[in-house]
Amino acid sequence: MHDQQSSARRDRLGDPSDEWRAYQGAPTGTDIECKGWRQEAALRMLNNNLDPEVAERPEDLVVYGGTGRAARSWDAYDAILTELRDLDDDETLLVQSGKPVGTFPTHERAPRVLIANSNLVGRWDDWEHFHELEAEGKIMYGQMTAGSWAYIGTQGIIQGTYETLAELARQHYDADLRGKLVVTGGLGGMSGAQPLAVTMNRGVCIAAEVQADRIERRVETDYLMEFADSLDEALENANAAIDAGEPYSVGVQMNAADMLEALLARDEIPDVVTDQTSAHDELEGYYPSGYTVEEADRLREDDPEAYVDASLDTMERHVQAILDLQDAGAIAFEYGNNIRGQVQDHRGMTTAFDFPGFVPAYIRPMFCRGRGPFRWAALSGDPADIHRTDEAIRELFPDHESLMRWIDLAQEQVSFQGLPSRVCWLGYATDDEGLTERARFALKINDLVASGEVSAPVVVTRDHLDAGSVASPYRETEAMRDGTDAVADWPILNALLNTAAGADIVSVHDGGGVGIGNSLHANNHVVLDGSDLAAKKARAVFTTDPGMGVIRHADAGYEDALDEATRSNVRIPMRDHDAAARAERSERADRADRAAEDGGHATETGESAGRGDE
Ligand code: NAD
Repeated sequence: MHDQQSSARRDRLGDPSDEWRAYQGAPTGTDIECKGWRQEAALRMLNNNLDPEVAERPEDLVVYGGTGRAARSWDAYDAILTELRDLDDDETLLVQSGKPVGTFPTHERAPRVLIANSNLVGRWDDWEHFHELEAEGKIMYGQMTAGSWAYIGTQGIIQGTYETLAELARQHYDADLRGKLVVTGGLGGMSGAQPLAVTMNRGVCIAAEVQADRIERRVETDYLMEFADSLDEALENANAAIDAGEPYSVGVQMNAADMLEALLARDEIPDVVTDQTSAHDELEGYYPSGYTVEEADRLREDDPEAYVDASLDTMERHVQAILDLQDAGAIAFEYGNNIRGQVQDHRGMTTAFDFPGFVPAYIRPMFCRGRGPFRWAALSGDPADIHRTDEAIRELFPDHESLMRWIDLAQEQVSFQGLPSRVCWLGYATDDEGLTERARFALKINDLVASGEVSAPVVVTRDHLDAGSVASPYRETEAMRDGTDAVADWPILNALLNTAAGADIVSVHDGGGVGIGNSLHANNHVVLDGSDLAAKKARAVFTTDPGMGVIRHADAGYEDALDEATRSNVRIPMRDHDAAARAERSERADRADRAAEDGGHATETGESAGRGDE
């Protein structure tokens, strides 16, 4: 049975492509295989997503986040490469759930690739229908950056994780996490960023992970300091580091739910508890307690229903343990994996949301100002190109204290995986010329490419988790002030606007982060090749895209967003209309008052009192 099902999966995906084996990551250098750099950038980013150094299970086309894939099957991957190589500068390739389905003549400023992944019509929009269609090879889970070819390894999330913990430290402690213990679960593609983000904030981290090779990989890539043999050893080392006030991180191979219960039993209450196991997917992401990884993998293949049951049972204990630790004094927050939603929806746990998600707790004020995880990759493959762009950040934003600190830390501590790349949270805030932070920086990179200071074009993209590109009621839009958590017009408008503004790749997905049916989100890429066309695209896209964050949050009534709109001249039609209407009403009232006074006077002189109202 087990072998039969594995071979069914292999039949669906096909054997890993010879082309992929030959690439083993993105091609680099200045010679291109495609007819232009925009198509070449798409080809390189797709292969970068599937670089064995970058992806979690590239031979199954899995990039990260449970089963987030870059292409539907190996045949689809090969066909995408063929299409990209043939694609003219005025054509657009359409990719539907990881499969190329058409190429049409468009125009030069239009996107070269448009992608829609994992989307289902509302009533059918759940894992059950998704898995049925997936088993028949008709749809693909694109997660966020996996299916849109914008994943850059664990480094892609590191600044977001760092910023989240820095904000937590600002709110609860003396600005950093020195002497504080953070416990969490998951050391996979994104979750693997947690220990380094804790130590960058000077804290101590214990992370539970069921797969030994994941722990080893994080140690090898310097995201994690040590792999402990047991929880006892991890605690002993962590407590020693806390006493010494030293940053320290350690992974322990065990189920995260079991670890939290063990901490409670020993009365070892951490300062902070969170989790980033792949709980958004109860079948293919989260591991149930009571099984080895091999046993659980076998159960999944043999009896998926029993697996899902066991998985949800463990999640229920997991969430209860987080709540108990919170009651005992720990700061608890959910880290974007929908573990609360899973046990509320599938186990009727009414207390699941008694601890907050990380967006309302720590991130939303940044979203209000259009700030989010802007990222760029050097298509040359040369780290020197990224170091030159780091300098550009320093030149452009010298007064931006936390950004300066971030660039120093990133240079010192973040190893490149695949194409050299960088992440910086930049936002809308405009300068005297009306250029947003993102546009200013993108134009600067474009100039550096034009002048040859950067040796090949740079592709600029971002996470889908951004200021104005997501509807996700259990994460990015949890607890919106005006109750619009589930309104999904915003990411659709974002994708349409990115297309109108001329981004080179635009994508719109369902289910990233929190699972099918729980989110819609969009993404973009702009290729900076030093041309005037690239400058025009960059200026437009990096105004409209962060601008969506400002208007979305202004519409929901957030003062920070309204303030940014005023400061940076973002037009908010209803507010402006309301203000104009208010001004007109007040002027009319003044006129009426004056008329009344005049009328009173006129009455005394025998004229009509009503005339002033005209
Ligand atoms: P991943 O699948 O690459 O890694 C998850 C890891 O969790 C795996 O290594 C797996 O072995 C481990 N795991 C699963 N169940 C476990 C358990 N019960 N105990 C211990 N370990 C367990 O996924 P990822 O890319 O690291 O993403 C993790 C989760 O975080 C996903 O739900 C994803 O959607 C979410 N996410 C959040 C953010 C954010 O910014 N907050 C960003 C990206 C992803």
